[in-house]
Amino acid sequence: MKYLDEFSNPESAKRLLEQIHAATTRPWAMMEVCGGQTHSIIRHGIDQLLPDGVELIHGPGCPVCVTPLEIIDRALAIAARPGVIFCSFGDMLRVPGSSQDLFSVKSAGGDVRVVYSPLDALKLARENPDREVVFFGIGFETTAPANAMTVYQAKRLGVRNFSLLVSHVLVPPAISAIMESATCRVQAFLAAGHVCSVMGTAEYPPLAEKYRVPIVVTGFEPLDILEGIRRTVVQLEEGRHEVENAYPRAVREEGNLPAMEMLRDVFEVTDRTWRGIGMIPRSGWRLAPGYAEFDAEQRFDVTGIHTAESALCRSGEVLQGLIKPHECAAFGKECTPRNPLGATMVSSEGACAAYHTYRRLELVEAK
Ligand code: SF4
Repeated sequence: MKYLDEFSNPESAKRLLEQIHAATTRPWAMMEVCGGQTHSIIRHGIDQLLPDGVELIHGPGCPVCVTPLEIIDRALAIAARPGVIFCSFGDMLRVPGSSQDLFSVKSAGGDVRVVYSPLDALKLARENPDREVVFFGIGFETTAPANAMTVYQAKRLGVRNFSLLVSHVLVPPAISAIMESATCRVQAFLAAGHVCSVMGTAEYPPLAEKYRVPIVVTGFEPLDILEGIRRTVVQLEEGRHEVENAYPRAVREEGNLPAMEMLRDVFEVTDRTWRGIGMIPRSGWRLAPGYAEFDAEQRFDVTGIHTAESALCRSGEVLQGLIKPHECAAFGKECTPRNPLGATMVSSEGACAAYHTYRRLELVEAK
């Protein structure tokens, strides 16, 4: 705790806020890419302490939120099959598909299990050779190495009844898509520190140059975020657009080389649809041909599923930073964490859940 407390020290936070106020001469809009950062910002009220006009736009960096509806519906179809043990992290169980979620499949008799690691799913496959064990592999560059390593192990050990339902997405192409959108208001990015701890920072200088935006690699504790904002404001005020690492205790420029090697071996880059946003070219990973036998989509025929989003849910606009969660008419009414209409209300990293958990009473009182 001592180590974490250092990064929440109120005196240091006050000093950083004073520096941000002193450096700011005009309005700026910056996006924190990662949902974990969004939660920290809303939980600690950081956005309310910034100078007037300095706006934090919440980005699409919540892995549960951007997993496309088609893949959720495929997961539901696979999980309902007899003989299947469908394994997932807990967050995914309440994410709504077109007509139900994994909890509904479980309560209807499907063997859906929450695991804490993809290796737990592989262990289940080895213990149940007469069953098909499927792991739902979602997430950004952060979770992908463990999933890649599990598939690598399955191949090495000759485990034939294990497969991965893959929905991995990549941050840099999403930054490009945001900057190229006609409605983009983002002038700088706080990049997600944990993604960079795996992939390093080499992908960011070309983006900073092309779009002329500062990109500051930032951690998750209050002082990390304030330092990221301070450096971003200083760059914007000085007219610079550089990549800076404000999270050096976790991020090295070259990244985690063994993890990157594992990713390159097991996955290949592919186009991916992001829920609420649409298709972003070359923004995801799928299993490479050498591991195609472990692809759950190929093992189970789950194509031709008709998908339908909630007509009320505006999570696509939330994920693109076009509206704040409470600007959705269903926020706190038809849509709550108990009865979520969209993934951004379900996920522990979702922006709607952050506002509902930390801001709901303030928002109601302000009306
Ligand atoms: S409040 Fe609910 S319905 Fe509205 S955008 Fe968020 S998840 Fe969707």
